[in-house]
Amino acid sequence: MNLQERDKKHLWHPLKQHQTHPNSLGIVKAKGCILTDEHGNEYIDAISSWYTCMFGHCNDFITSRVYQQMQTLDQIMFSDFTHEPAVKLSEELIKILPENQNRIFFNDNGSTAVEAGIKMALQYYFNKGEKRNTFIAFEDGFHGDTFGAMSVSSLSVYNGPFEDFLMDIQRIPVPNGKNNEEIAQKLQQIVSEHNVAGFIYEPLVQGAAGMKIHNAEDLNSILTICKNNDILTIADEVMTGFGKTGNNFASDEVGTKPDIICLSKALTAGLVPMSITSCTEDIYTAFLANDIAKGFFHCHTYSANPIACSAALASIELLQTEEIKDNIEYISNTHKIFATKIENHPKVTSTRHKGVILAIDLNTNAGRYGTLRDQLLTSFMDEGVFLRPLGNTVYIQPPYIITKEQLNKIYTTIEKVLDTL
Ligand SMILES: *Cc1c(COP(=O)(O)O)cnc(C)c1O
Repeated sequence: MNLQERDKKHLWHPLKQHQTHPNSLGIVKAKGCILTDEHGNEYIDAISSWYTCMFGHCNDFITSRVYQQMQTLDQIMFSDFTHEPAVKLSEELIKILPENQNRIFFNDNGSTAVEAGIKMALQYYFNKGEKRNTFIAFEDGFHGDTFGAMSVSSLSVYNGPFEDFLMDIQRIPVPNGKNNEEIAQKLQQIVSEHNVAGFIYEPLVQGAAGMKIHNAEDLNSILTICKNNDILTIADEVMTGFGKTGNNFASDEVGTKPDIICLSKALTAGLVPMSITSCTEDIYTAFLANDIAKGFFHCHTYSANPIACSAALASIELLQTEEIKDNIEYISNTHKIFATKIENHPKVTSTRHKGVILAIDLNTNAGRYGTLRDQLLTSFMDEGVFLRPLGNTVYIQPPYIITKEQLNKIYTTIEKVLDTL
């Protein structure tokens, strides 16, 4: 029996209706931008395996650093101990994070980074003797699948069974260049009617919404209103962090810096799961007291796992190299050229791009997980390119180390598949 057959016996996959979608393709290896399946077929990973493997799969520099770490210190409880990889990672991150960030808190994945951010904001006010119970979030935001993260997400379309258990969230529209006044009014109204602890947002690019892009100045106006009303701001940079938008972080482009930042995905270059919630010294200070209960009693067993920290350190080192910076610029420039070209395709309604992210909206009726969307995915795979459409949106987010030929093949495959629609 092959992997696909053996898989069906005991496994339960995420985001899947097994009744209608019983098959999962067996992947046996990945190197650079290439995935190899169990039949020997190769695919270009055009979305960096959900925006994680930005330096390519099984990157030799990163794996050798991780291997060294594995021979020195594997795991140690972080509530009582500390270690070089965590200390060094905090030093390196503080150098590149927005200048107001000063504390690094470790979690396991994007959802728990958001969960910790939400809890920090709630307890920040609780410790100051204020009860605040509301969060503001964007319409069409996505922040993860645990309860807090699910609450602030509006895109968890299949939340029916859990709705009664979600937090109190007020939503504002995403800036579109024309609705700043409307958003400002809505914000003022929410502030006057609720005790708002924080505003959580995906800065500049909303990933799961279909790589929707908004303007830095418009976002800045919203953040300014939040600051003026003592609302803590939480930037969910789980997708945008570490070079995707052309800067180290999307928040680099926005004048007003967030109080809290959530990081994961590319943080460890796709090698091992880990996430970080960073914050300002002001937030950290609100947890200092002689009263133990004012501390942040939130912990994951594998917090600051040394192996994961070493992967993050190696990846940050690569991100700072001229070579990677040049690659990001190259990808961004070629995306722009391809966007202009594909815009005229009869099946295309609009395109947008930012850094290494390119999104193409189709005038089809694909549905988020509909049949046409499945068909598109299969057609791309048949051509040797892994692209995972989000409803009517096809997007590219290639590893920074992608070759010109591979990038070109992604573009020509998209054109070819759109021609058959
Ligand atoms: C992927 C993602 C998350 C959730 O991260 P997980 O590691 O899947 O829990 C949260 N926020 C954003 C913006 C994401 O893209």
